[in-house]
Amino acid sequence: GKELNRPKTQLRIPGPTPLPDAVREATGRQMINHRSPEFAQILAETITAMQTILQTTHDVLLMSCSGSGGMEAAVANLCSTGDEVIAAHAGVFGGRFAAIAEAYGLTVHHVTAPDGQALDPVRIAESFVAHPRAKTLFVTHNESSTGVVHDLRAIAETAHRHGALVAADCITSTAALDVPLDEWGIDVAVSASQKAWMAPPGMAMVAVSPRAWQRAKTATLPRFYFDFAKHRDAQAQGQTPATPALPTLTGLHCALRMLVAEGLPAIVARHRAAAEACRADIGDLAEYGLRLFAEPTHASNTVTAVALPDGMDVARLLARLEEEHGVIVAGGLGRQAGKIIRIGHLGHVTAADMDAVGAALRAVLSP
Ligand SMILES: *Cc1c(COP(=O)(O)O)cnc(C)c1O
Repeated sequence: GKELNRPKTQLRIPGPTPLPDAVREATGRQMINHRSPEFAQILAETITAMQTILQTTHDVLLMSCSGSGGMEAAVANLCSTGDEVIAAHAGVFGGRFAAIAEAYGLTVHHVTAPDGQALDPVRIAESFVAHPRAKTLFVTHNESSTGVVHDLRAIAETAHRHGALVAADCITSTAALDVPLDEWGIDVAVSASQKAWMAPPGMAMVAVSPRAWQRAKTATLPRFYFDFAKHRDAQAQGQTPATPALPTLTGLHCALRMLVAEGLPAIVARHRAAAEACRADIGDLAEYGLRLFAEPTHASNTVTAVALPDGMDVARLLARLEEEHGVIVAGGLGRQAGKIIRIGHLGHVTAADMDAVGAALRAVLSP
């Protein structure tokens, strides 16, 4: 069969992202007892390092699930039966947050923007005025389906002005962009191990503010596995409520050592350089009809979406990139399926890696 992880393969999708060698080794270590002092130490060190990268003093809960599980936890712990909420979204992942709220029976007021454009905080303010009972906002920071980074700081300010809490999908912004959670007052921030954290899939991280803890006390939506308080209480004992994704945790523990050693300013600068290289490379391919999809003022430094010329065979493009160059990029999702490709530049990535993607694209596109 086809060998997975061929050495030359470059996985450039918006998660999962490639693992540094040290992280791969850490994920392959022998299992340990998850009710042991050794585990407690790994968990505590991981959470402390995570708070550093998340720029937060809030509780960070490590849940064994993908990012979507963390989003579901945000809904289930903040809201009560009968609640009205506002969901601001402009893409597949923002739409998922709204869909989770609807699945829990909440009345969701939607604020949207066209794909590729940023959400307008003024429209969110208008929604709060129109729906004064809404006291929770669900929003995406970095929309991986369109390569747009929304203005989370202004959006959070807007929600707070209207007395609402903010739950943000920061899954592809944290550990890559400057996201000062406490300074911006993000009440629940969700991330996931397989994105910029350079770790395997399997864990969501959820940062919970004091205001969110207050809310969770009275929130009546049903929850069991995803109950914030259960996770907080277990973590206080150096444990998790149920068996954690141990290989993911040991990988995260290792990756966080690397991230803390690099330091957030350097991490942010490296992602900016990779994104700028990617956008410049796509700009150079304009002659083949490629175009940057996101509005330039809100282009993401972790994911670049590229609009393709009408009629281009995307499946064939992706297959040739992989087979001939070992470069794996993502196709479009939802409404953009077949129309765009998405290049991930988050995690263990440099500007030079992006130039390799650009060169592969040029080779495949040139006649
Ligand atoms: C990847 C991603 C998710 C979904 O995460 P899963 O880990 O696949 O559940 C949600 N939001 C954004 C912005 C993402 O990029």
